[in-house]
Amino acid sequence: MPKIKINREKCKGCLLCISVCPKQMIKQDSALNKRGVKPVKFEGGAACVACAMCVVICPDGCIEVFKEE
Ligand code: SF4
Ligand code: SF4
Repeated sequence: MPKIKINREKCKGCLLCISVCPKQMIKQDSALNKRGVKPVKFEGGAACVACAMCVVICPDGCIEVFKEE
């Protein structure tokens, strides 16, 4: 099952990743990070297709994608 890993403390909450995910697998967290913004979080589940759109669009390199066998 593919999954992504988000660096929540590095995230600046621009929400670009949410706008490009075709499966709506990324949501904004309700809690602030150390930067004082609401970062995004991975919703999990099998719907992620590992397209890496979120990885490519993130201006700060906060997201990694993994393809698990
Ligand atoms: S890899 Fe693709 S499907 Fe998975 S969370 Fe990122 S944008 Fe969404
Ligand atoms: S694109 Fe990057 S910096 Fe912007 S909300 Fe997503 S993870 Fe955070």
